[in-house]
Amino acid sequence: MTQTKQKPRILTGDRPTGPLHLGHYVGTLKNRVKLQHDHDCFFIMADLHTLTTAISKEKTQDLKNKARGLVLDYLSVGIDPNNCVIYQQSKVPQVTYLSAIFSNLITVPRCQRVPTLKDVMHDLGIKQPSLGLLNYPVLQAADILMVKADLVPVGRDQESHVEVTKEIARDFNKLYGDVFPIPNALIGDGGTLVGTDGQAKMSKSIGNCIYLSDDQDTVNKKVRSMYTDPTRLKPTDPGHVEGNPIFIYHDAFNDNLVEVSDLKKRYLLGQVGDVEVKTKLALAINKFLTPIRERRSQFEGKFDIIDGIIEEGSRKASLEAQKTLDEVLSVMGIK
Ligand code: ATP
Ligand code: MG
Repeated sequence: MTQTKQKPRILTGDRPTGPLHLGHYVGTLKNRVKLQHDHDCFFIMADLHTLTTAISKEKTQDLKNKARGLVLDYLSVGIDPNNCVIYQQSKVPQVTYLSAIFSNLITVPRCQRVPTLKDVMHDLGIKQPSLGLLNYPVLQAADILMVKADLVPVGRDQESHVEVTKEIARDFNKLYGDVFPIPNALIGDGGTLVGTDGQAKMSKSIGNCIYLSDDQDTVNKKVRSMYTDPTRLKPTDPGHVEGNPIFIYHDAFNDNLVEVSDLKKRYLLGQVGDVEVKTKLALAINKFLTPIRERRSQFEGKFDIIDGIIEEGSRKASLEAQKTLDEVLSVMGIK
């Protein structure tokens, strides 16, 4: 039976594949910080999902540290483990049990049609997907349904995975009994942040990122070498503001709206040099990152606290998972 819950429940998270950047902040973290106050939030570090593409011991043995880094990134932006559950997927093994049950409710061609599969195979040059990669959205369905999430904040690229989850939940409920609420994707309105190269979205595998953990000098350097308006050769040439990454970043991170509007006006008229626009942008990003850096410094290197957060969150998630699994096995008549 579906339980009544006071606050809508959320499941979202990240694969621990590296540090988070400004794109993650704009696209999801900012929203998570807000959601944790009026939603029952589960933030998953989906390390089992990284195995679908990171097939080497070099990568798996680094997962523990990557998960710790992720927690540090979460804490730094203001995600508060007192207001949410932060957990590591591999520490909640019930999810793989549920995934095994769910994998019987979906066909191979249906999994092959999930658009992200083609994208990943193309990007990584994979000729034939492993069963694990094909199963990616099924394991994700188990993550979501295990905690009976109502809402799943995802980027538009992951919407197709939530569709798979809905189909599995409906099929299970129809076959065995009404266990799962049908979750909905919550597509963020933060948009996609372009990278410092101005060519593609900010993405750690492209290396066009400003990380939340970058120090002041690194930010200054990255901003100084940012792509701007290629048609503008000297400061007196009228420039383009629309679509120019430097102004996209000013809009996203500079809280001095008067300064931003003045810079845009002068840029369009050819009355300001890139150096001034970039210097002011670096200052604005560093100001934006100041409270993030302060929070990070409180936890940096404190592995006992970080590991404690992961253990406690995983314990809470496990309790939920076990409850759901018991219910599943009971309606199926297995237990
Ligand atoms: P990778 O290069 O390994 O794919 P990434 O830096 O692109 O890593 P992902 O792990 O693919 O990051 O991103 C997870 C989620 O974070 C996305 O589904 C999206 O919601 C959000 N996100 C990532 N990059 C951006 C971006 N540049 N702008 C807005 N949101 C982003
Ligand atoms: Mg990506």
